[in-house]
Amino acid sequence: MICGIIILEKLTVSTQLHNKRRDILANVLEVKELSKQYSKVLAVDNISFEINEGEIFALIGPNGAGKTTTIRMISTLLTPTSGDAIVAGHSILKASDKVRESITYLPDEAGAYKQMTGIKYLRFMAGLFTSDIDKLNAYVERAKTICALGDRLNDKIGSYSRGMIRKLLLARAVMTKPKLAILDEPTSGLDVLNAIEIRKMIKKLAEEEGMSFLLSSHNMLEIEFVSDRIGIISKGHLMVTGRADELKERYQAPNLEQVFERVVNENEVH
Ligand code: ATP
Repeated sequence: MICGIIILEKLTVSTQLHNKRRDILANVLEVKELSKQYSKVLAVDNISFEINEGEIFALIGPNGAGKTTTIRMISTLLTPTSGDAIVAGHSILKASDKVRESITYLPDEAGAYKQMTGIKYLRFMAGLFTSDIDKLNAYVERAKTICALGDRLNDKIGSYSRGMIRKLLLARAVMTKPKLAILDEPTSGLDVLNAIEIRKMIKKLAEEEGMSFLLSSHNMLEIEFVSDRIGIISKGHLMVTGRADELKERYQAPNLEQVFERVVNENEVH
């Protein structure tokens, strides 16, 4: 279990300097005709989209639509059947190590070691990415600032609430300043106030540091608040991408929930 988590945590390595300038909108992610066929199921069917520097992109869709499969392929945890994705200039097929240095992936079921204190956990995780003590301290300081757990970092994680654990995990995930953070259901199971705090953390990192995000969520209010652009996936097809206001206008819908319903129903009919 610990071994699996450590492998996952190693995806967070990054030494890239952040770029605060929002005027240069380089592609951080370019997904090119990506498909995944499981034995009988075509889970992802020829999807393409891109994410710019500093952009928050949400991939939404019903259960079983192919979100996790897409995210796992981009994270290099799953090999595509066809297609490719370029992350910070590196192909997931040809340069998976370089891709892993540029991203962090936080699965929705991610956990932390309950017997460790928060601060020990952050130091332990930072140590997976660097043996340089100054760098390690800088990563930990950054994570402390981001999670804002104060003195509670000296307590065992087992005593934390769900919201505190999620803040700690998110801070850990972004402490090395990855170019692209991939977050599966970042606020699932959190109360409203904790969810708002996490969303603000994400927005701040995108706006102030130019970090890019690929999120999946079932919460339409969250999506509307946090994301710059949205992609709706249904039965493995990426049906549409656009800003929330563009999608609402296009589908003549008062909110994103109704856009979602219409797009998914359209796909059911065809
Ligand atoms: P959810 O919102 O429920 O998490 P999702 O959009 O993330 O769903 P995926 O988990 O990517 O969807 O699944 C897409 C399709 O692929 C589903 O039909 C699922 O049953 C199938 N699938 C996923 N993993 C496997 C696997 N390892 N082997 C076979 N089929 C799989």
